[in-house]
Amino acid sequence: MDNCIFCKIAKGDIASFKIYEDDTLFAFLDINPVVDGHLLIIPKTHHENIFDTPDEVLEKISILSKKLAITLKEKLNAKAVNILNASGKEAQQSVFHLHFHIIPRFENDEKNLSFHGEKKEAKDLERVKEMLLS
Ligand code: 5GP
Ligand code: ZN
Repeated sequence: MDNCIFCKIAKGDIASFKIYEDDTLFAFLDINPVVDGHLLIIPKTHHENIFDTPDEVLEKISILSKKLAITLKEKLNAKAVNILNASGKEAQQSVFHLHFHIIPRFENDEKNLSFHGEKKEAKDLERVKEMLLS
């Protein structure tokens, strides 16, 4: 993808603060971190989002997510981690090359990850379940 900023970062054509690289994956610091240590993991090959990424690549991202989460704990003293992916513009994806955010969390970091869900009755949940399983 000629115009994809993350393809360019993975190739080294655009500078980034690289944290990890292998044949398949590349990880680097987010330029607008939610907190210090906020990382992005991307595949080197261009896939827009989770819907068109091969399972083998997703498996590797999952394993690397754990590895880097441990690194954030050990090196930055993170207490916890959020692992986030936005797939599609309605999910607020802004860069259309698959990426997983690895966000370290600290005691009293005053960030708030909340979707403000609302309680539903069993019949409503049952209806959704039926739709998903039909
Ligand atoms: P999304 O909103 O698609 O889930 O996340 C895109 C992320 O990419 C954002 O957190 C944004 O700060 C980060 N980002 C966008 N452009 C660049 C860039 O050129 N370099 C780096 N390091 N991060 C970027
Ligand atoms: Zn790309």
